[in-house]
Amino acid sequence: MNTIEIENILAGKGLRPTANRISVWRALSQATSPVNIADLEDMLVTMDKASIFRVLTLFVKNDVVHSFEDGSGTTKYELCHGRDHHSIDDMHAHFHCEICGETTCIDGTTIPRIALPEGFVPKGVNYTIKGICNKCAKMLKES
Ligand SMILES: [Zn+2]
Ligand SMILES: [Zn+2]
Repeated sequence: MNTIEIENILAGKGLRPTANRISVWRALSQATSPVNIADLEDMLVTMDKASIFRVLTLFVKNDVVHSFEDGSGTTKYELCHGRDHHSIDDMHAHFHCEICGETTCIDGTTIPRIALPEGFVPKGVNYTIKGICNKCAKMLKES
């Protein structure tokens, strides 16, 4: 995706497309699975951790990315897969492999809607299945 397209996406979310925001967006779009801050630091050698964190916090607030806990002890981030809008209903389940530590998006799934008591406003939801991924399962079988 070129810079103009990223600028348009950020502008569409009400964000001024600064160089840092474009860099973080691009890194997230290149990641094959949800990443944590340390992963982004490795990908964005020109940015320090505090700057990355500031951009991520803003992205979460403006519904550009989803953040969730996968049980690995760090918060994982991914671009919202919903195209034009964003809501908790867009959230999908994740699978966290306890051997390699990779978290995989299980696209095409919907997270069951829980009926909340009157007046409760949901802002995020985690649905993570833990176990052994197909790559690790294969490796275990072969060894
Ligand atoms: Zn694995
Ligand atoms: Zn995901």
